[in-house]
Amino acid sequence: MEVKNVMEEFVFKHLDKMINSDEKICKCEKCRIDVAMLALNNLKPHYVATDKGNIYTNIALYDKNNEVDIMCAIGRAIKTVGDNPRHAEVR
Ligand SMILES: [Zn+2]
Repeated sequence: MEVKNVMEEFVFKHLDKMINSDEKICKCEKCRIDVAMLALNNLKPHYVATDKGNIYTNIALYDKNNEVDIMCAIGRAIKTVGDNPRHAEVR
């Protein structure tokens, strides 16, 4: 058994299409991860117990109920990273 934060799955599920539909945000890997990280820090983690290969129950429902919050957090993160991209800081 494992404990997994399914919020990560939800954020990454919505992340790409939201980044791709935003013209301002940089599309590099560093900015993409920054957006994911910021969004996740602003969302409450949702942990589930999972067995390897076992499909979790009620995940789709949880996603539906929290979709607005999740997309809101990603939207804010995209704006923050878009205004202050950190990709040039460390090489
Ligand atoms: Zn970038």
